[in-house]
Amino acid sequence: MEKEALLLNLRKRAEKALQEGEVLLNHLPHNDFLNDIEKIIEEFCIYRAELELQNEELIRAQIQTQQALSQYQLLFKSLPVAGLVLNNDGVIVQANSKAVKLFGFSAEINLFNRTFYRLIKEKDRVRVLQVLRDKKETTTILSDITPDNSSHNNFSTLDGHFINLSADYHLENHTLVLLVDQSAQRERDYNKMLYQSIMDNTPSVILALDKEGRCLLANNMTHQYAENQDIIGHSRAEIFPNLKNHSDYTQKDDEVIMTGKSELEEEVLNLEKDKIEYFITNRFPLKDENQIFGVGIISTNITPIKTAEIELQQALLKAKEEAVALADAKTEFLANMSHEIRTPMNSIIGFSELALLEKFGEEASFYFEQIHTSSKHLVGILNEILDFSKLEAGKVQIEKIAFNLSDMFNSLEKLFYLSIEKKHITFHFIMDDNIPMNVMGDKFRIQQILSNLIGNAIKFTESGSITLKLTLLELTKVNALLRFSVVDTGIGISAEDQQKIFKQFTQVDSSTTRKYGGTGLGLVICKKLLEEMNSTCQVASSLEQGSTFYFDLTLDIANDIPQNSDLFKEESLKTSWIDLAHAQDIVVLIAEDDKNNQEVIKRLLKFAGIKFDIVDDGLKAIQALEKTSYDAILMDIHMPNMNGIEATKAIRKQEKYEQLPIIALSADIYIQEKAIYLESGINDFVEKPINSEELFESLFKNIKKLQELMPY
Ligand code: ADP
Repeated sequence: MEKEALLLNLRKRAEKALQEGEVLLNHLPHNDFLNDIEKIIEEFCIYRAELELQNEELIRAQIQTQQALSQYQLLFKSLPVAGLVLNNDGVIVQANSKAVKLFGFSAEINLFNRTFYRLIKEKDRVRVLQVLRDKKETTTILSDITPDNSSHNNFSTLDGHFINLSADYHLENHTLVLLVDQSAQRERDYNKMLYQSIMDNTPSVILALDKEGRCLLANNMTHQYAENQDIIGHSRAEIFPNLKNHSDYTQKDDEVIMTGKSELEEEVLNLEKDKIEYFITNRFPLKDENQIFGVGIISTNITPIKTAEIELQQALLKAKEEAVALADAKTEFLANMSHEIRTPMNSIIGFSELALLEKFGEEASFYFEQIHTSSKHLVGILNEILDFSKLEAGKVQIEKIAFNLSDMFNSLEKLFYLSIEKKHITFHFIMDDNIPMNVMGDKFRIQQILSNLIGNAIKFTESGSITLKLTLLELTKVNALLRFSVVDTGIGISAEDQQKIFKQFTQVDSSTTRKYGGTGLGLVICKKLLEEMNSTCQVASSLEQGSTFYFDLTLDIANDIPQNSDLFKEESLKTSWIDLAHAQDIVVLIAEDDKNNQEVIKRLLKFAGIKFDIVDDGLKAIQALEKTSYDAILMDIHMPNMNGIEATKAIRKQEKYEQLPIIALSADIYIQEKAIYLESGINDFVEKPINSEELFESLFKNIKKLQELMPY
C-alpha cells in the first residue's frame, strides 16, 4: 500500500514539474542545467509508460480474479454432491442447493451461520470436530456420517470430504466440505454381499448361461463339481466334460429361452466321473427388461433322498411281496384246512342225508335231521371264512354271465321257503315293471349277497314280513341300473350300530350273537363283493321297526340266456329224480379217493338204481374207461397219482370221449377254479359236501338218456 501511494505522489509531482518545466524551457536559454532537467523528464516519461503498463496488467488481473470467483461460484453451485464452506469456527458460510436439500431446509440462507457438526448425528460429531480442528491434511475423508434429520435407515450415510482451503490458497481457515450420499452404493454393496454369501453357501449348483450356452455366473458348488475350474465364459461341455448327452441339456435350455417358461424336473446326471447322481433342476429364463438373454439353472443334488426313497420303495415292495406271500399262504392254509374239515363234514352230511332217505323211526329221523342241519350250517361257516380270506387276499374275480333275474328270485324264494314258514312270517317279492329280466353279471355272487341279506332278515325278524324288492333306477338300451333291497320288520339296528356292522367279525352285541348265532362275516363279505362290482352295501334301519339292506348294480342287458341254467324246477324233487332214474340203465364211473365220499355217492346212486364202478385215482379212471362204456364220470379233483384235472385232459384227448359227461366233485368252485376245470374239459361241478339234489340235478343235466325222461 505504501509503495503504491509513494508512486502516486511521485507521479503527481513529476507531471506538475513536467508542465512547469516545459513552460520554463520555452522561455529559457539552453544550458547544462536544462539538459539535466530534460534527462529527468525523459526518465519520468519512461517511468510513466511503465506504470501505465503495470496498470493495464492490474486491471487484467482484476478481471481474471473476478472470472475465477464466478467460476468457483458456478462450480460450487452445480456440484453433483452437497457442498458447504465452513469458517474457522466450523460455521457454515456457504452452501449449495444439494446441501440445503440434504439437511432438509428450503433455502441456502437457512443453513448460513449454523454450526456444521450440529447438523449430523451425535455419534459422528467427535470425528468431524477432530478433522476440523486438526486441518493437517489438505483433504480428509470420513465415512459413515449420518445427517441428523435422516430417518433410521441402514443405508442413509455420507462420505464427508473435508478440504482445507487455507492450505492451498493462503486464505483464512476455510474448509470446503463435500458430502457424498453413499446409501445407494451401500445398499448395492450390502445386497451384493448377501447375494454372494447365499450363492456361495447354497448346496445347489447355480449357473447362468447366455443364449450361446456360455457361463455368465457360477457359484461355489459349481466349482466343486466342475472338472475345469475356469468356468466363466465356458460352455457346459467344457465345465463338465464327464456329462453325457450335452445336447439334451442344451435343448432344454433353448426351450426355456424360447418359451420364457420355467421348468422343474428330476434329472439323472453324471457330473463327476463314474458317478450317477439324482438332481432336481429348475430352469428359468434370465430377463433384462423383458428381453430374455439366457437361462438360469439351479440343480440340487437329491441323491441321498432318492437313494433312501428307492430303498424305501424296495423295502415296501419286499414287504408287500411278503405280505402277499403271507396272505397267499394264509389262503392256501385256509383252503387246505377247510378241505380237511370239509372231507369228514361231507361224510356227516352225506350219511345223515342217506339216513334221512331210509325209513327209520321218528326219533331217529329227528336226530339225523339235526345232524344234517347242523353240519350244513358248519360247512356254511367254513365257506364264509374261506370266502372272506379270499376276498382279503384279492383272489376273488367277478364273472359276467347271462342270467334271468326272475329265475334267480324264484330260486332264492325256494331256498328260504322252509325257514320263512317255520318263523310264521310272510315273504313278498316286489318288482318294478319293465325291468329287463335277462341280464349279464355274476349271478352266483349276487345270489350269495341276497342269500346273506335274506338269511339275516329271517334271523332277526320274529314277526311281520320280509320283502325282496327290485327297483329300476335307470334304463338305457344297453344296461339297467337296479336297486336290490331286502326289507324286514325285525329288531332293527341303532344308528350307532349301523356304523359297526360292515366291519369284519362285528356283531351288534354279544347277546345278539348268543341269541341269533353267526360269525359276523356275512355283511363284510357282502360289502367286499359289492365293492368288487363297483357298488356298496347300504342300510336304513330303526330299532324295533326293521331294516332295509340295499345295493345298486348296473347290469348289462343280455339277449340270450343259455338254456341249461335253470332247467330244473321246484317239482324236480329228489325222490322224483330217483324214481325216474330207476327205470334206466345208467352206468357211472366214480373217481374218488376218499372212502367216506365214495360211500355217500355209492349209496345215493344205489337209491336211484344207477350202476357204478369206483376207482381211487385219475390213472385208474382212464384204465376203467377202456373196459366199460360209462354214461358219465364223477371226477374228484384232489386225488393221488393223477388228479381229476389231468385225468380229464387225458380223457378229452381221445376223440371217442369228446362227448362223455365229466362232472367234477369239488369244494372249491370259485371262478378261478371253474375256469381251470372248464379249460380241462370238465362239463359241470357238484359242490362238496355232496347233496343228493345237486348230484342228481347235474346227472340229469348232463346225461342225455336222463334228459329225455324229463316231463318239461
Ligand atoms: P352274522 O353272521 O353275525 O349275522 P353279519 O355280518 O351278517 O354277521 O351281520 C352282522 C351283524 O349285523 C349281526 O350280528 C346283527 O347284529 C346285525 N344285522 C345284520 N342284519 C340284520 C338285520 N336284518 N336286522 C337286524 N340286525 C342285523
